[in-house]
Amino acid sequence: MEGFLFHLSEEQRLVQKMAADFAAGSVKPLARKIDHEHYFPKELIPKLSELGFLGVNVPEEYGGAGLDYVSYALIIEELAKVCASTSVIVSAHNSLCIGPILKFGTEEQKKKYLPKLATGEYLGCFALSEPGTGSDAAAQTCMSVKEKDGWRINGVKNWITNAPEADICVLFTMEDASKGHKGINAFIVELKNTPGCSIGKKEDKLGICGSPTANITLDDSLLPDEQLLSKPGDGFKIAMVTLDGGRCGIAAQAVGIARAALEDATQYALERKAFGKTISKHQSIQNYLADMSCKVDAARLLTFTASRRKDENLPFTKEAAQAKLFASEAAVWCALKGIQIHGGYGYVKDFNAERYLRDAKITEIYEGTSEIQRLVIASQLLKQ
Ligand SMILES: Cc1cc2nc3c(=O)[nH]c(=O)nc-3n(C[C@H](O)[C@H](O)[C@H](O)COP(=O)(O)OP(=O)(O)OC[C@H]3O[C@@H](n4cnc5c(N)ncnc54)[C@H](O)[C@@H]3O)c2cc1C
Repeated sequence: MEGFLFHLSEEQRLVQKMAADFAAGSVKPLARKIDHEHYFPKELIPKLSELGFLGVNVPEEYGGAGLDYVSYALIIEELAKVCASTSVIVSAHNSLCIGPILKFGTEEQKKKYLPKLATGEYLGCFALSEPGTGSDAAAQTCMSVKEKDGWRINGVKNWITNAPEADICVLFTMEDASKGHKGINAFIVELKNTPGCSIGKKEDKLGICGSPTANITLDDSLLPDEQLLSKPGDGFKIAMVTLDGGRCGIAAQAVGIARAALEDATQYALERKAFGKTISKHQSIQNYLADMSCKVDAARLLTFTASRRKDENLPFTKEAAQAKLFASEAAVWCALKGIQIHGGYGYVKDFNAERYLRDAKITEIYEGTSEIQRLVIASQLLKQ
């Protein structure tokens, strides 16, 4: 985006351009197929890996691109602008699976998993939600019981992005419910090599249709001790820290969708005629475009601010929640106005306007609903 006020370094601008070029050249031509056919774009995986987009923040010593979090947000935004499904496949892999292994893993775990995740040999996912609990993440019922040879796991995790295609999952369990959130453990699960582990049917969703979502069942699965991430009882902390980072990615995804809605609507307004002039000359349409533009830029600034604070090791829980809350609501609002500007053409699948709305909606739900983001922001404000 020309003339944008937030200062980006030379390297960040290069990453942004690389992502935008890749998105336009390789992802955009597939976007309608991905949406209409609920198609998982497997042919993009080697290309994403080549560009370093599957190990964005992984240090080079583990085979990653070694980039910062602002660069990560830029990549997700550019991918989401053309295909929200592709952007969430990449963001769940990077921020939700690689993120906690990078931050909390032992040296052995990092050496074992990060190179394969960063090159796309393994695809990652993150399993916190369950059929009976999403927002109330401390109420886990998937159980882990310590045995002589490791940990016995039983339970179901629900709505897991990438699960049908994934190899590695960072998965949360309850060990001791009497300890509340301090009784939760996190594990690295090799989905294809763990006896008793099975993946459910692919969910038939409203939007992000090419992003595969399914549940994961663990039926008496025995995980060796070395699959535990950090210490027993650290699971909830790992989940919350991971979601702070993840929310910057979802905010960036929402910014990308909102930008796409604005760009398409602007172009359409310049072409469509009503009452003897293009609709861009009607003030109501101009007002919509102006408001969309404000929301896009404000959402983007919040997203970069949260991401930069993460890069600078500053607290960013509040900023990430603000970015995710504002950007997701902006994306839904912009997508709705984009449809309005397209009139009847906005309501049919010949144009992308309706896809932006279906894709935008999930950004208000996953990685913490808008209601939960407001709770997080308020609790940070009210903290003494
Ligand atoms: C497509 C998709 C992909 C997903 N991917 C993943 C994934 O990869 N990994 C994963 O672990 N999860 C994933 N999820 C789950 C997602 O994070 C949860 O759906 C979300 O956190 C909400 O949980 P819930 O669905 O159980 O809703 P609930 O928690 O039952 O909430 C229902 C409603 O009540 C509101 N509510 C709940 N508690 C409060 C409160 N205290 N105050 C005010 N309002 C409240 C909520 O905001 C919501 O509006 C995914 C979900 C979807 C749909």
